[in-house]
Amino acid sequence: MSQTQFDVANACQRIRNKMSSTAQNSGRDINGIRLIAVSKKQSVDKIQDAYSTGIRDFGENYAQELKIKSEYFNLPDIRWVFIGQLQSNKLKMIVTHASEIQALNSLKHASLIETYAKEQSKCPYPVWINVNCENEASKGGVHLKDVEEFAHQILTTLPGLKLMGIMAIPPKTYQDSEKSSEIPDIYLQLRAIANGIGEGRLSLGMSGDMGLAIKAGSDVIRIGSDLFGKRDQ
Ligand SMILES: *Cc1c(COP(=O)(O)O)cnc(C)c1O
Repeated sequence: MSQTQFDVANACQRIRNKMSSTAQNSGRDINGIRLIAVSKKQSVDKIQDAYSTGIRDFGENYAQELKIKSEYFNLPDIRWVFIGQLQSNKLKMIVTHASEIQALNSLKHASLIETYAKEQSKCPYPVWINVNCENEASKGGVHLKDVEEFAHQILTTLPGLKLMGIMAIPPKTYQDSEKSSEIPDIYLQLRAIANGIGEGRLSLGMSGDMGLAIKAGSDVIRIGSDLFGKRDQ
């Protein structure tokens, strides 16, 4: 283990334990829940520690950082998942280094991703629609009412993409709600919408709401600070 103050291996174990107990309590199979370690702004030493405990899925938000880390590790069994905001001029780099993109919110980007994935023989390339569940103009993401139509356009015009489902960041009020046991309506609504989108998967749940997300039926959880400690600024 590297000389970092935060014990990543220990945190990985704690999260795995919590995942299994929550899954068990809600009658779910732990093997059906995928953990993405969100490594944005975290050191390669910490990523190495998480890798050593068996984690293979790492989430990154910035194209340049993704490139640097994927080239540094250069391991065929690591899956880099891009979960940050997309920009047209970074998409080629992202498709080159990430094996999947979870923050799709425009058809123009979807079409470019398909073009680059074809060039690199990576089709069908997995994408997830980033859903905006607060209808805030400032936040990226497709509004709930538009998700179905957007999914339809992807499915009918871009066969080189594999539409996996939806990815959401829940409203702030729920992000630190581990004490409450009641599943918020919006979580159930997201679960229901995901069922009708592509492969029907839901990516929901971060450090502050992992338990609720698992109870609500999320297929993927994306954990950053609870796994790696506070991010570098
Ligand atoms: C940063 C980030 C996370 C992880 O957040 P934590 O609160 O640190 O667990 C998850 N999903 C997305 C899209 C993120 O940008």
